[in-house]
Amino acid sequence: MSDRLPIVDNLCRNPENHKVHLCELKLAKNTDKVAQLSENPKFVCGNCGNKANKEGALCAPGPLDV
Ligand SMILES: [Zn+2]
Ligand SMILES: [Zn+2]
Repeated sequence: MSDRLPIVDNLCRNPENHKVHLCELKLAKNTDKVAQLSENPKFVCGNCGNKANKEGALCAPGPLDV
């Protein structure tokens, strides 16, 4: 167990880019950006369930299909 992990809410797989993740943009109420990034969703976030066009916009991206 390490106590030196960066403090990120949940399990972000790419904390360096967390500020551009939909999860964070939603919290920041950046609705324009959120709408842009989720226009044509192909990926879903395993953390929060947000859907995005590209996996780079999610903390824990997975393919969006049922
Ligand atoms: Zn993130
Ligand atoms: Zn998320």
